[in-house]
Amino acid sequence: MKKKITIAIDGHSACGKSTLARGIADTLEYTFIDSGAMYRGVALYAIRNSCLSKDILDVKRLISLLPELSLNFYKSEEGSCLYMGEENIEDEIRKPHVASIVSKVAVIAEVRKKLVAQQRIMGKDGGIVMDGRDIGSVVFPNAELKFFVTASKVVRSKRRFIELQKKGIKQTIEEVEKNLIERDYIDSTRPESPLTQVADAIVLDNSNMTIDEQLSWALQKVFEIISLK
Ligand code: C5P
Repeated sequence: MKKKITIAIDGHSACGKSTLARGIADTLEYTFIDSGAMYRGVALYAIRNSCLSKDILDVKRLISLLPELSLNFYKSEEGSCLYMGEENIEDEIRKPHVASIVSKVAVIAEVRKKLVAQQRIMGKDGGIVMDGRDIGSVVFPNAELKFFVTASKVVRSKRRFIELQKKGIKQTIEEVEKNLIERDYIDSTRPESPLTQVADAIVLDNSNMTIDEQLSWALQKVFEIISLK
């Protein structure tokens, strides 16, 4: 049997990383992990535990509460879902009030330390496709295959807008775009594990690609690497 490799997918907000990661994982029968969901889970935890007042984050309070936070992925009918304790929080973490503060939570070193440790355990045996911002640079710097995904701002905003509409979440396209720009800025400029395109990543601009086209394109690269193992 071929060795199960590790695939890291990083890139800008709402560029289709998770869709690509899930598609690759399903094809290879690998584990798919959406690391962004975990940061969103911490943001939801901060909101629910009064760590926020008027958009100001009480970082000290959140850090002190981190040891009690348990986030895990479990399979459900809709696929892999994130649970906080016993609660499926998959829908809640996609809402705008979480998106608006998640990048502020993701700059906190203690938060990253906790989540990165858990992500490394999940990927210790390979056979994993993980998407995020620091997967190829920090979480799995030795991943056999790394992708850096991007798309134009207009395309990304439109895709996220449609996705939210389908879920019945009302936001204007301008509000969606504002959030993406803000998150990209914070994610790329933070001192701790900023979003960067690592030298050994294969770049994919999917602005003019369908979901199927990007999957076939990426699978070609995946099979090339796997055939060498
Ligand atoms: O991937 P998604 O857009 O859901 O991620 C939400 C946020 O979580 C990002 O904007 C970023 O602030 C943070 N994140 C991160 N590192 C990761 C994944 C996500 O800092 N590996």
